[in-house]
Amino acid sequence: MAGVKDYVNTRVGANREQIEHHVREILKLIGEDVEREGLIDTPARVARMYEEIYGGYDVDPRDVLGVTFEENHEELVIVKDIVYYSQCEHHTAPFFGKVHIGYIPSGKIAGLSKLARLVEAVTRRLQVQERITSQIADIMDEVLKPQGVMVVVEGEHLCMCARGIKKPGSKTVTSAVRGTFRSDAASRAEFLSLIKE
Ligand SMILES: [Zn+2]
Repeated sequence: MAGVKDYVNTRVGANREQIEHHVREILKLIGEDVEREGLIDTPARVARMYEEIYGGYDVDPRDVLGVTFEENHEELVIVKDIVYYSQCEHHTAPFFGKVHIGYIPSGKIAGLSKLARLVEAVTRRLQVQERITSQIADIMDEVLKPQGVMVVVEGEHLCMCARGIKKPGSKTVTSAVRGTFRSDAASRAEFLSLIKE
């Protein structure tokens, strides 16, 4: 996935020793022998992983869209199947899936790769799927001021969250609509049929 390595949480690097210490203490508290071979480097690996999976904290998602201007295109633009990995804020357990974004521009468009970077900036944090969905829609709306924007997020959650025990492989689907998509059922239907292909 493009740009993943670019987003690094610099606070994790600055606090690395403390983070490693606390991870080691938690491992002890669950009854582990932190000196055994498989675990000896685990606190350091966890800290390095945090740099990446919490890399979104060092980015303002509003800054990543890199808006370009195009006068002519006022038809539906869809970028689908943007893969994301995030962490549920209730359990710090991973959830992951795909984001689909559709919008009808009003003079401003974003580079296609920039939408993937927006998704990373929003998802590489402690999050909930519903907020990821509405934040992406709101930022698209705020920065591009399109005629309309619609966002659909699919997620598989490794925790049970507040939703009860689910079977492996079941997906949560969330959506957010702004602008003309709210009133125009035909646009919503066009978007939904195109992301299913
Ligand atoms: Zn959870």
